[in-house]
Amino acid sequence: MPVLVMKFGGTSVADLGRIANAAEKVRREVERGYDVIVIVSAMAGKTNELVKWVSETSTFYDAREYDAVVASGENVTAGLMALRLQEMGIPARSWQGWQVPINTTRQHGAARFLSIPRDNIDHKFAEGMKVAVVAGFQGLSPEGRVTTLGRGGSDTTAVAFAAAFGAERCDIYTDVDGVYTTDPRIAKKARKLDKISYEEMLELASLGAKVLQTRSVELAMRYKVRLRVVSSFEDIDETSGTLVCDEDEIMESKAVAGIAYSREEAKVTLFTIEDRPGIAAAIFGPLADAGVNVDMIVQNISEKDYDEAHPGAVTDMTFSCPIDQVGRARKAMEDAKTRGLIKYDELIIDDDVAKVSVVGIGMRSHAGVAARMFEALSRENINIKVISTSEIKISVLIDRKYMELAVQALHDTFELERA
Ligand code: ADP
Ligand code: ASP
Ligand code: MG
Repeated sequence: MPVLVMKFGGTSVADLGRIANAAEKVRREVERGYDVIVIVSAMAGKTNELVKWVSETSTFYDAREYDAVVASGENVTAGLMALRLQEMGIPARSWQGWQVPINTTRQHGAARFLSIPRDNIDHKFAEGMKVAVVAGFQGLSPEGRVTTLGRGGSDTTAVAFAAAFGAERCDIYTDVDGVYTTDPRIAKKARKLDKISYEEMLELASLGAKVLQTRSVELAMRYKVRLRVVSSFEDIDETSGTLVCDEDEIMESKAVAGIAYSREEAKVTLFTIEDRPGIAAAIFGPLADAGVNVDMIVQNISEKDYDEAHPGAVTDMTFSCPIDQVGRARKAMEDAKTRGLIKYDELIIDDDVAKVSVVGIGMRSHAGVAARMFEALSRENINIKVISTSEIKISVLIDRKYMELAVQALHDTFELERA
């Protein structure tokens, strides 16, 4: 039998009625002749609640117990979904991560897949089971402990199962009917895309578009999984939603395909650091050791160039990182200063910033995208604090209060509402 993977996100299983609605969608695919693997998220809001309970109980919590608690939301929905399917006369059973087993690394809270043996589930399909319901977001460490994959991780569970079982497609059911040119919640003019390339989706996801977890797109790209984003709340057919696929399946040739944003950014500046060989390593080494994910970096031009004969040149260094890591970043810098690794006069944190990025493989061949982007922001009087670019994206850091305005202005400038 061909295998289909269907993943239902939190809002799609938010209550018993929605679980029943999702189960109906599963029934339709079973009737079409598929063996179905259903991956479920926790009910909407549940994971946030569990995370809060953990941090209210323990400030510097044991990451293994964090995972034990936070993974539990998915167990509830997996069991309920299996029960609902059984009530509908469909042979189904649930699996928690350890039962498959979904083998992962031991990085609690950010575990990666090692292997997903098929035997258990295949055996049940061979016995006539039609639907395997698997708890998303979780796995099993080499030590036999429960792990989780990072927020939004059920998308990645879904793609990994699609790859492991050679599924015909991996359908991600969510509360929007596809991938849009930008988040439809903040730009009314956002347009649904019929197709988007793996590369563009990967950039959009890693730059903040929460519709798919970044890792899920990476895996889909590596294993050539046909990944589709569709609505849980509409009737769908073969042409619904957005297909994430290879670049050559796409006709559109716009410079910019989409815009992503991330609210949870912070900017850290070290004033008056020495301008000498090794200074960047002395700053970013301790940050990496402290687990700070540094994103954008700017080093100002020094008044005079470094020159062995005239030491003493100074400059400033600015970097951005996720807002929940600024405490760690500050501590790493203060410790490095105490240990004499670096010197600086002042460390200033600006946690009122957001990152807005334009993404498109068309940028490789279209010139002037950066200039158009900066002009659009300047027309709105939005000051750019940091810029970073790659082959297919340009990101800027701006004051958070201008984030939505910037997204809308850029959407207009690049005429994304038009196909
Ligand atoms: P789920 O709970 O189903 O996993 P998520 O909340 O993780 O759903 O992801 C869906 C949300 O992603 C949408 O409600 C939408 O607000 C947001 N989103 C951000 N960028 C985009 C985009 N470019 N296209 C579609 N949705 C987007
Ligand atoms: N429930 C988890 C979360 O909210 C995983 C997921 O929904 O994908 O992050
Ligand atoms: Mg999600």
